[in-house]
Amino acid sequence: MRELQADYVVVGSGAVGMAFADIILTESDASVLIIDRYAKPGGHWNVAYPFVELHQPAAFYGVSSKELSGGRLEQGGLNDGLGELATGAQVSAYFDDVMRHQFLPTGRVQYYPSCDYQGDGQFESKISGERFSVTANKKLVDCTHLNTEVPSTHLPNFSVADDVRFMPLNDLPKVSEAPAGYVVIGAGKTGIDACLWLLGNGVDPDTITWIVSRDAWLLDRRNTQIADEFFFETMGSYANQMESLAEAESPDALFEKLEETGYFVRIHPDVKPSMFHAATISTPEIEELRRIKNVIRLGRVKSISRDQIVLDKGVVPTSPEIIHVDCSASALANIGIKTIFTGKTITPQMVRPYQPVFSAAFIAHVELSYADDDTKNRFCAPVPLPNHDTDFLRFTAVSLANQYQWNTEPALRAWIAGNRLDGPSKLLQGLKPDDAEKMQVVKRIQESVPRAAANLQRLLQQVS
Ligand SMILES: Cc1cc2nc3c(=O)[nH]c(=O)nc-3n(C[C@H](O)[C@H](O)[C@H](O)COP(=O)(O)OP(=O)(O)OC[C@H]3O[C@@H](n4cnc5c(N)ncnc54)[C@H](O)[C@@H]3O)c2cc1C
Repeated sequence: MRELQADYVVVGSGAVGMAFADIILTESDASVLIIDRYAKPGGHWNVAYPFVELHQPAAFYGVSSKELSGGRLEQGGLNDGLGELATGAQVSAYFDDVMRHQFLPTGRVQYYPSCDYQGDGQFESKISGERFSVTANKKLVDCTHLNTEVPSTHLPNFSVADDVRFMPLNDLPKVSEAPAGYVVIGAGKTGIDACLWLLGNGVDPDTITWIVSRDAWLLDRRNTQIADEFFFETMGSYANQMESLAEAESPDALFEKLEETGYFVRIHPDVKPSMFHAATISTPEIEELRRIKNVIRLGRVKSISRDQIVLDKGVVPTSPEIIHVDCSASALANIGIKTIFTGKTITPQMVRPYQPVFSAAFIAHVELSYADDDTKNRFCAPVPLPNHDTDFLRFTAVSLANQYQWNTEPALRAWIAGNRLDGPSKLLQGLKPDDAEKMQVVKRIQESVPRAAANLQRLLQQVS
């Protein structure tokens, strides 16, 4: 067994491990040892479906020290005019580049790809079988907690008979002969992507059956743009969100207001969503998806046989001429939260909703800047990941409490404003005090945030 040591031992070279290590390397002279099962950095992006893209603009994804986007706007397609979305291949290549050309040349990084971490400082190469024992002089950083599940690595929780044509959406581009139809199982981000990909390839919407066990509230991608020309969409949407939270008398009234003001959107306006996974979508994508009329809402799939699909609340016919596309993996399978700083271990999680990489960078900065765990945890309460619609209330409450704590610390505020992964600061930095219309939006936010935080506590008492 080979003995190794480093100041920080990071398990997982996905986006979170990379964003964390990046700050340690740029803001300190500490050494970092990175272990991952995969042969390349980038985590689940390496095994994603070939047509995957980020669902947020690439401008604020990746590690703090290196741009991912070329700052371009998409031209044509379903995201016309919005900030470019990197493809999965671009994201993987980006993290590979960061590792090779930024991390390793520092001489302070040891990288162990294709290795399984087994706990207690022990890991083993999956290729050579060599075994290692590693000591973290400062901290072990566990970036595996979120346990992101993707279709290619996921086993469906329903049975599928041998003679059923069944595949994860990863295999769709391998289809070589048009089937009689497609059944898409799942209505999260991957289900949406599968439907859009089929429609984009000219599949007749009437030959697509979409199994939607739960409808979701979605975020309008137009409101996530970080460019001055989108100031009113992005900051205006935040103002709408805060005002809705400040004024709503019940959770139901809140969701109505959030939809009325354009913060939330949904694909099927006649069905009340019960899920919220924070997926982002454009208006043209919604219109495209509405062309699929055969939407099955009979609960979850229990089994698929040669000629029928059994669901919780009914049965629908199928046939061997139909391809069944599995999009039932839940991107975030592990939705429990843990205290982030506990003695010798750091477990990065989101400290700001929708922003795993900003959160990882922020946690690394807090680790380097403050001495004791209590102070670090005060700035880094983990934002619970949403699943049900009402989880939106829980995670917004934690997020506002974190924001309040950050505002008490001028040095943290300055760090956030200077960090490239923080989108809102970029919009506010360009703001001129004589721009009355934009200042009005900022004023709305300032006035509504404290009222939103107070009202949220009342709304939370109304949800179980
Ligand atoms: C389709 C899709 C689109 C998304 N789009 C966006 C987006 O636009 N913006 C956004 O912010 N987020 C997006 N996300 C969320 C995304 O999951 C995060 O951005 C981020 O990639 C998660 O990174 P991670 O490091 O936490 O997880 P992972 O990528 O899963 O990395 C964890 C790593 O840990 C390794 N590992 C686990 N256990 C062990 C072990 N025992 N030993 C060794 N290695 C181990 C794994 O091999 C893996 O490389 C998207 C997710 C999906 C599925």
